[in-house]
Amino acid sequence: MAYFADLHLHSPYAYATSKSLTLENLAAWAGLKGLDLLATGDFTHPVWIGELQEKLKPAGEAEGLYQFGGVNFVLGTEVSCVYRQAGSHRRIHILLFAPSLETAARLAEALAVYGKLDLDGRPTLGISARDLAELVLGVDSECLVIPAHAWTPWYGLFGSRSGFDSLSECFLDMTPAIRAIETGLSSDPAMNWGVDELSDITILSFSDAHSLPKLAREATAFDGPLTFSGLTNAIAMNGVAFTVEFYPEEGKYHYDGHRKCGVSRAPDLSDPGFETCPVCRRPLTLGVLHRIKALSRRNAEAHFGEDGFIHSPDGRPPFIRLVPLQELIAQVLGRGVGTRAVQTTYMKVVQELGSELDALISGSFQDLETTAGSAIADAVLRSRAGEIQVEPGYDGVFGKVSLPNRDSALSPDFQPELL
Ligand SMILES: [Zn+2]
Ligand SMILES: [Zn+2]
Repeated sequence: MAYFADLHLHSPYAYATSKSLTLENLAAWAGLKGLDLLATGDFTHPVWIGELQEKLKPAGEAEGLYQFGGVNFVLGTEVSCVYRQAGSHRRIHILLFAPSLETAARLAEALAVYGKLDLDGRPTLGISARDLAELVLGVDSECLVIPAHAWTPWYGLFGSRSGFDSLSECFLDMTPAIRAIETGLSSDPAMNWGVDELSDITILSFSDAHSLPKLAREATAFDGPLTFSGLTNAIAMNGVAFTVEFYPEEGKYHYDGHRKCGVSRAPDLSDPGFETCPVCRRPLTLGVLHRIKALSRRNAEAHFGEDGFIHSPDGRPPFIRLVPLQELIAQVLGRGVGTRAVQTTYMKVVQELGSELDALISGSFQDLETTAGSAIADAVLRSRAGEIQVEPGYDGVFGKVSLPNRDSALSPDFQPELL
């Protein structure tokens, strides 16, 4: 049985995150979303790790994991490496996972030399990604080091503004220790399948939630035992059952653009002039699609299966693209996501169908219709079948999802937007 994990999220102690991200609320929302395993987030923060030490209990047989409120937790955090390499400024976000509270505390002690851990749950560290990997694995060789949202322009390993063109350029001799990347919201696995260097790298997707409702907007279903070493093996041996994805166009760095100038456009790598803003003449923020095109050597094939999943002919784990349920309900009701009408309907669907992931991935039209009416049932099935439209996000602006009239609905045939 696969289990659902969301391993990139934050505590109330990270910059610009919700005060509601308490352990109590995280456990409750894991249930609503249908998640079996959550990262704790932010374990280098002194106040947060104090709470974790006080409240988490070892998860019995699930060695290396902890429990709170009936939910499994793994010690996980994100750090921001800011440094210079080969004459350029680098800013790379990296996820770290530890097999115990003791290791997490030792890591915090070792990392405190490189930055102020109490300022931000996602601390800025003056250390290179390569040296970080060496330090972390030196503290405990069971730890995991995973580049976060690898394609985003500002803090992604492959990002246009402060990243690298390859994993090996970034991690040098430590590259073999990197077994996986997190793709981020603006990219899906098929977009990564054409990059040669990633052919045996595990593709992971998590929410990077800064508030409770955003949990599981992306998630990974892992095969194998629900233990820390089971998780490590799944990541090292590509034991991913499937990933749950945002429509990549909905992510806020899909296209190239300038938010201030209102400029958004699809990348055109054949024309260098396309990298300059036509309004202010400054360089555009080059998005995820641009970088994928620049670093892909071949077209990745992908096909849309009867099961609603997108499959790779090369046996890579499949994935499903979904629109978060609250957004679908808000679209249908014509109300804001935060309104009582949307929230009430959301809770009703989630409670009746088991969880949000259950409702979105496998809820039947009949069950959804009985609970929330035919328009919402239709919207969920259309989100699964690709029958939606998304105005692509750019330069920090999220893409906008809409449900076109039935007459103008898109063909459900999957056409990956690739080279
Ligand atoms: Zn980040
Ligand atoms: Zn501009």
